[in-house]
Amino acid sequence: MIVASLTTIRNLALAMLAALASPSGSLAQELGMPAQCAPGKDCFLQNFVDTLPGEGVSDSFCGTATYDGHDGIDLRIRSMADVRRGVAVTAVADGVVNGLRDGVPDRLVETESDAAAVAGIDCGNGVLLDHGNGMQTQYCHMRQGSVVVKKGDQVKRGDKLGEIGASGMAAFPHVHLTVRKDGKPLDPMTGRPLSEGCLKDGASATPLFEPGIAEALGKGGPKLLGLGLAGGPVDYDALVADGAPPAATAGSANLVGWGWFVNLRRGDRIYISIVGPNGDIFAETMSEALDRSKAAYSSFTGKRGSPKPGRYEMTIKVLENMTPVLQQSQDFTVE
Ligand SMILES: [Zn+2]
Repeated sequence: MIVASLTTIRNLALAMLAALASPSGSLAQELGMPAQCAPGKDCFLQNFVDTLPGEGVSDSFCGTATYDGHDGIDLRIRSMADVRRGVAVTAVADGVVNGLRDGVPDRLVETESDAAAVAGIDCGNGVLLDHGNGMQTQYCHMRQGSVVVKKGDQVKRGDKLGEIGASGMAAFPHVHLTVRKDGKPLDPMTGRPLSEGCLKDGASATPLFEPGIAEALGKGGPKLLGLGLAGGPVDYDALVADGAPPAATAGSANLVGWGWFVNLRRGDRIYISIVGPNGDIFAETMSEALDRSKAAYSSFTGKRGSPKPGRYEMTIKVLENMTPVLQQSQDFTVE
């Protein structure tokens, strides 16, 4: 009788421990944002984890918004101009700082020699947090000199760790977040180990992010980072370095409508039209189908010669099998 009671008490205690441990043990639907920004407005999920072992890629939802061997998610901001403005990287859950690095310069990796320069320090400036129960989160590519925590610090969910940068192996400014359980990466979008593969249509899973955040981060479809009218051709590298180009004026040498995208897929086409002040079509183009998926991309169309002042309406579409999957129109005044 006494033995039975002790066992019962022990089982009860274990059950209570399990009940306490399981929500925070898995962090399911508990994670907050890894940065102080609004997804789809001033930050964008550009790469998911790669769930396909070996060569080839498959993102969380069996798409192509990832790259080979990627073990976390990349939440980008538009440009290095936003890095200079300062966007906080934040703890996704309460935890303790286990390690950090700072002092690596913010330099976009564009060439082989850029990549060689950051060999062994791929993460750049980063922070590693312990959350208990074998759960860890790691934050990478932070802005040089921005890390504000030190080893052993207790942090609360939402606390600032540093700022988004482009240190280490970064071709665009972003924070990379890896979530690990007992040292193995988990997909924060599905809560599953990467080894379980992608989530097929119709299958359900429990994200580690709280539901509103998981929804806002999306599932990897094409997104528009910006559009506008400029006075000349728009270069992708210039967009990443400086953000949107200056608006066209009546004194510009040309009038060019530009769009800036992430997560385009193989076969997508980009349509751009500009309707002029008199209501006539000023310029209109439909691109060829993309020969491969593009993590980030820019496109433009326009005409030589100084534009007539007035109101121009620009429309941008991304089409899959000639069906628009993204469409935006905006008026611009050229003065
Ligand atoms: Zn990454």
